[in-house]
Amino acid sequence: MTQIPPTLPLRALFDAQHHASRAQIEVPLALRRDRLGRLRELIDTHAAALAEAVQADFGVRSPQLTEAADLFVLRAGMAQLHKQLPRWMKPRRVATPLYLLPARGHIQRQPLGVVGVIGPWNYPLQLTFGPAAAALAAGNRVMLKPSELTPHTSALMATLVRQAFSADEFSVVLGGADVAQEFSQLPFDHLFFTGSTTVGRQVAAAAAANLTPTTLELGGKSPCVIDASCDLDAAAIKIAHGKLLNAGQTCIAPDYVLLPRGQEAAFERAYTAAVARLFPTIAGNPDYAAIVSDRHHARLTALLNEAQARGARVVDVAPPGSAPGATARQMNPTLVFDPAPGLRLMNEEIFGPVLPVLPYDTLDEAIGFINRRPRPLALYWFGTDRAACERLLGHTVSGGVTVNDTLMHVAHEGLPFGGVGESGWGSYHGEAGFLRFTQQKPVLVQSRWAMGQLFYPPYGPRFSRVMGLLKRWL
Ligand code: NAD
Repeated sequence: MTQIPPTLPLRALFDAQHHASRAQIEVPLALRRDRLGRLRELIDTHAAALAEAVQADFGVRSPQLTEAADLFVLRAGMAQLHKQLPRWMKPRRVATPLYLLPARGHIQRQPLGVVGVIGPWNYPLQLTFGPAAAALAAGNRVMLKPSELTPHTSALMATLVRQAFSADEFSVVLGGADVAQEFSQLPFDHLFFTGSTTVGRQVAAAAAANLTPTTLELGGKSPCVIDASCDLDAAAIKIAHGKLLNAGQTCIAPDYVLLPRGQEAAFERAYTAAVARLFPTIAGNPDYAAIVSDRHHARLTALLNEAQARGARVVDVAPPGSAPGATARQMNPTLVFDPAPGLRLMNEEIFGPVLPVLPYDTLDEAIGFINRRPRPLALYWFGTDRAACERLLGHTVSGGVTVNDTLMHVAHEGLPFGGVGESGWGSYHGEAGFLRFTQQKPVLVQSRWAMGQLFYPPYGPRFSRVMGLLKRWL
């Protein structure tokens, strides 16, 4: 390992990584697996300390939630990277069209060089180490800028990474929006951003100045459509779980529910019962995450107050009773019926335990409602009527879909994960993640028997005859 001082200024750190990436373009399997192994060991050895740091950042965020939603997902992804790497790294043979025979074509898979990763606070380990692991597996150097809103977690990540990696291999950069902005202006070979749509636009603009390709994993309003054929009780617990995991601070949480008109009271009963089953109390319940900051809590309260002031029916569905909590930011889950269309609640990503419920009369009305809005990151459908499900899936475009559950498509490593339109571009997980950080270089190996010279000038009757023949083939 090259000995580089661990706390270089941002540009010097980038230069060191860039230099190292150009000095070693071919990155063998053993080195990639060694880097993945070091990251895995770091996570396994310090899992408890990392979960504690996340808990300290949120005020309340159970270590079990971090274990499942951050660490388990990370380990699953890394295990697959480790296992599949030899296969994914191999060049791909490609069939050669008749008119180029007997040349041969293949695709060589190479590291891009230096990858920048900017992460959010909501799943501060999965959404930072996850893309970093895929980038390392693809043979890249990585600079990671985690969120300033999880300072304990980000600081611990920086320390642990510094202990396990040389700075020109993998580094964590700490700082707020000013550092993040400077970070996004570096001429990375790829910049991977997870965060809000607003900041995503700024990141895309900064990267464009360097022609740096980006992946934008953004947010948005993910609809949850309940079909008339749905068992409401079975659906309600899955919707409540998807909505209230991390107190709604999940990019793919169902943002609002579209429900057949007339089922509002039944849904309210089913959802209230589901909440009580998952969280018998809210305040003081260590399983129920706090809203990350006072600012975020105040925003959510303002959304609810505006909805109530403008005639919506806000129902607090928290079970009665509470215990003294570590923070006042554990926010009760609510349902919001009849929200007016102009409300902030209906135009901004909610990112909290507030669930608007909107009735629809026909499936086409629900489809139209979704399609008049920016394309969502996720879409959920509940029911047994397969034709209705296929109609909804065929007539809407979203980043991903889970049918008859919420969130779960994110956990399937064989499915690419990402957004579309305002919910982002580019995807990762599994081979999609490996390819995101890989240059797929096409290589054509010409044969001495090539017929290419038949197409060379001067263009005469021979050229016309050959083109005529080719036209008949195609
Ligand atoms: P955010 O956009 O506020 O911040 C994300 C990161 O961007 C932070 O590290 C921050 O320091 C950095 N940043 C801030 N200003 C910047 C700038 N001008 N230039 C470059 N970087 C800058 O997002 P957040 O509040 O941390 O996360 C919540 C959002 O992220 C929600 O919208 C959520 O839907 C989305 N999200 C998306 C996914 C996904 O996979 N699609 C996953 C989690 C969260």
